[in-house]
Amino acid sequence: MSVMEHSHWLAPGWPGDGTATDDRPPGLVTLVGAGPGDPELLTLKAVKALQAAKLVLYDHLVSPAVLDFLPPGADRVYVGKESSRHTLPQASIIELMLRLARSGRAVLRLKGGDGYIFGRGGEEAQALAAAGIPFTVVPGLTAAQGAAASVGIPLTHRDHACALVLATGHTRDERGLDMDWPMLARPRQTVVLYMGVNNLPEICRQLIAHGLPGDTPAALVEKATLPDERCITGTLADLPQLALSHGVKPPALIMVGGVVGLRAQLMPGAALARIPRESEAAQA
Ligand code: SAH
Repeated sequence: MSVMEHSHWLAPGWPGDGTATDDRPPGLVTLVGAGPGDPELLTLKAVKALQAAKLVLYDHLVSPAVLDFLPPGADRVYVGKESSRHTLPQASIIELMLRLARSGRAVLRLKGGDGYIFGRGGEEAQALAAAGIPFTVVPGLTAAQGAAASVGIPLTHRDHACALVLATGHTRDERGLDMDWPMLARPRQTVVLYMGVNNLPEICRQLIAHGLPGDTPAALVEKATLPDERCITGTLADLPQLALSHGVKPPALIMVGGVVGLRAQLMPGAALARIPRESEAAQA
């Protein structure tokens, strides 16, 4: 799909709509991480960039409360993708961003979490560098950090995990889960999987098959830091069933490791308020 097919994103006559014939220097592109959702988790740099923005290209996972920082007159272009449609052409987004910048417009490229962590910020930065367009990068809290603080699961802890692995739970070519299972199943580490909810049964099965005990604590954190956040805790053995019974949907993280067991101690109230498993509900 070419960018021209997305031309409805731009009002006719805009600089960058393909009709402008200017030879201004390229506009600066600011790649900003919008954090996991709660607008109070934005960096000061991100807020300043939002408040000064005239044109923003933003993704699906950027929460509306973050967009509230934009000036009323800023042009907003949604280039997002639902997790079920992750094939939306990244090339088209890059093409559009380059075209706008080349026409002299300053572009705020806004992404959920941190742009350099499963945000394709690296690919966009490469394209900008190759095109000779100036850009800066503003980091954001990644979903794992937001979730950790919000649900009471430290990502590392000297008694439980001396390494943290952030990994994707789906593969780029959809040819099945081609993941480094021996690495993911190592003991004494925390594994946080992004984009993995739809593959949860296979992920848990493989981690157990590669040596992690079935009673390893594991959690799902859905919509972390947002008002409707949910955290469901269990073990590698029972998390897939819990996910089904609670209808967990993306965006959600899978967190695996001993640190997950600390939630009960760090957030005792929340742990008590945990939605009961179906079997528990039936017994109650
Ligand atoms: N750049 C982002 C990740 C984008 S990949 C970051 O640094 O956080 C998209 C995946 O991120 C989702 O499928 C989900 O696994 C995770 N994610 C993003 N925001 C989330 C949130 N608020 N709660 C839980 N998971 C989230």
